Amino acid sequence: MTAEVLDGRLVAKTVREETARRAAAFRERTGRPPGLATVLVGEDQASQVYVASKRKNAVAAGIADFHRHLGERAGRAEIAAVLAELAADPAVSGILLQLPLPNGADPGELIELIPVAKDVDGLTTASQGLLARNRPGLRPCTPSGVLRLLHEARVPLAGAEAVVVGRSELVGRPMAQLLLQEHATVTIAHSRTRDLAEVTRRADVLVVAAGVPELIGAGHVKAGATVVDVGIHRTGSGLVGDVRTAEVARVARRLTPVPGGVGPMTIAMLLANTVTAAESRHETTEGGRIR
Ligand code: NAP
Repeated sequence: MTAEVLDGRLVAKTVREETARRAAAFRERTGRPPGLATVLVGEDQASQVYVASKRKNAVAAGIADFHRHLGERAGRAEIAAVLAELAADPAVSGILLQLPLPNGADPGELIELIPVAKDVDGLTTASQGLLARNRPGLRPCTPSGVLRLLHEARVPLAGAEAVVVGRSELVGRPMAQLLLQEHATVTIAHSRTRDLAEVTRRADVLVVAAGVPELIGAGHVKAGATVVDVGIHRTGSGLVGDVRTAEVARVARRLTPVPGGVGPMTIAMLLANTVTAAESRHETTEGGRIR
């Protein structure tokens, strides 16, 4: 068997086009575009590339760009002041604090300063609570991108055995919640899981977000499974994921590539979340007018 490739670039393009249409309709209705504020602290090379790409894609979708770049030495008070200003700005629909912060600083308290209605990364305790309780809210971009990919490929989820490798707040945990809401039977594996291959071989749908290059091989995968590789690693021989793609492709029915799988979906879902935030705010504001 050679697995069908789930093309994230193609689905991301569809999501971006949908989002651009929604952004244009919002602008038509309200007289102003949705706005995305990106906050970058320090000079981390990878973060700069990610933020530049988010801003470029946002502008291309008709979303106004509000960017703040703070120096490597910016203290918590300075970052908090910027977040408070963006939180109060009615032209800003969504706020994204790019992680990681310099010098391994804990972003926890700062993230909580983002109002839940503008939390387009879905990382605040309030957003994660809404997700856990299956209430409407903004969902983290990477797992919601994975879900969209699975839906586009018509992968059956209700009643399926789903295994998520990884339990981070950014990916693994929200991914498991989203699959549970799709009525999958969900198992979460992590670094203390005793026999990883024994657990992952149960999966009809296997989502791998361990951050370990090429952790998952053919021996971890049930024949006919759908395998989603969230990992991304730069190596001497190019980009690789958490899955040994070539060997798993011989066992799996469907597989996401790296690059071109989950990665493009993350930014597309960020744009979609920004427009959703703008629309929700508009609907909940008195008389539909943005104050
Ligand atoms: P993370 O915070 O480092 O979490 C990794 C998780 O994997 C942890 O829960 C860890 O378990 C578990 N784990 C580590 N080694 C393992 C092993 N040998 N066996 C089983 N589980 C193991 O990483 P993350 O932020 O979730 O990201 C995961 C990967 O996805 C990274 O490669 C990251 O670069 C990538 N990523 C890609 C995108 C995208 O858009 N494509 C977005 C976000 C992240 P413990 O909890 O026990 O430590």
